Amino acid sequence: MKPRTIMTLVFWMICGILLIVFYRANQAQMTAFIQFFGLEMTIVQLWFISLLSSVFVCFFYFGIKRMGDRKKIRLFQEDKRAFKELGQSLLSVQNLMALGEFGKARVALNSLPLEASYKAYLQAQCLQGQGNLSEALKSLKEAWDLGSDLAGFELVEALLKTGKEDQATKILDFMLEKNPEAVRPRKLRIDLAERKSQWERALELLEPFADQDPAFYQEKQPALLYEHLMSHFKLSKLGRKDMDDLQKLQKDHPQFIPALLLQSEVYFEQGDERRALRTLEKGFETTGHPEFLSRLELYYLEQGRPEDVLQIYRQMLAKNDDPVVRFQTGRLYKKLEMTDESLNILEPLVKQYEGFTQLGLLVADGKARRLKYEEAYKILRNAVDPKAENTASLQCRSCQTYHVKWSARCNQCKQWNQLDSAIRLLKEKEPDHNPIYY
Ligand SMILES: [Zn+2]
Repeated sequence: MKPRTIMTLVFWMICGILLIVFYRANQAQMTAFIQFFGLEMTIVQLWFISLLSSVFVCFFYFGIKRMGDRKKIRLFQEDKRAFKELGQSLLSVQNLMALGEFGKARVALNSLPLEASYKAYLQAQCLQGQGNLSEALKSLKEAWDLGSDLAGFELVEALLKTGKEDQATKILDFMLEKNPEAVRPRKLRIDLAERKSQWERALELLEPFADQDPAFYQEKQPALLYEHLMSHFKLSKLGRKDMDDLQKLQKDHPQFIPALLLQSEVYFEQGDERRALRTLEKGFETTGHPEFLSRLELYYLEQGRPEDVLQIYRQMLAKNDDPVVRFQTGRLYKKLEMTDESLNILEPLVKQYEGFTQLGLLVADGKARRLKYEEAYKILRNAVDPKAENTASLQCRSCQTYHVKWSARCNQCKQWNQLDSAIRLLKEKEPDHNPIYY
């Protein structure tokens, strides 16, 4: 029995007891009261009858309710069974697909009571598996028309795979028109704009992410703006607004190397060499990135004034014995056939930066020139990774690959602004020698 039933019965019993107490106290009035209704009963009989009827009502009510519940449970179990069967069939379809039995999977799919859009979507996957791309595209289109956004994205990807960028663009534009807030089509659309070098459009599409997904915006915006400016620079049509944008880019992202380098290129292009060189020096001061030094070096070597850049290096080293400058200086000495100077400056680095191949090679070569073959051999054995690129002094922060030439974007992992001095990255990887324990 449920607590509610018991409560009802207890309530009636208490009522009866109170009634009896009341009856004893006012017997004459109560008898008159009952007789008024034409009844010939004692109060106990009256109470007993009402108790019985309430019990009956309770059982009747709960009995009916319980029958209803039973029916619901039965229906639910039937649903569950059907759902389970559907799930198992779906699983077997997926298994067939995983086994590469796409024909069988398609037949099995046909008899499943699935939502039409989802069915078309799965059909498309099977067709794709069978290598029937054009039919798969049709099926995906059907699924998308039936309202499956998932199929829409697959459709876009399939179109991109088959080189139909224009159609993919149309679908994405339609999706964005339907729902401008949608994140995924917008991101894909940005990728497409990037792929087609439509930097302005990409920047425009990126704008809403400034509030919606600031991390994504911060990651994308400088690169896209840089590409946009660079495309104008290459066509010699950098306008007033572009120059302002470039300034702003440097201000907002002082560690974004490509923008600083572009600024110096712009000054060189304008014939303002003093400012161009100043920009390179300042670029190194703020970022410590070796590309600024390499460009300074290149300029002075082309001018036939290596002494000037050596002078700059010496000043920098006097201020701060930065291994990046040290390596750069030693390498330049080596280039200028100043073997002793090169050895002097590079040798102290060897022990600390074992594993940096180019450094090991430079020092070993110097030693060999001084006929110290034994030492040269030792350095080569310890410091040189035979698999590493001999002339690479830059390394990607993101994918660790080595690079000979600097580029704004790593050509391996496609990440922006990741190439840095291999020396600096080796040092960053070193564990802290003096950890502080509290
Ligand atoms: Zn990389």
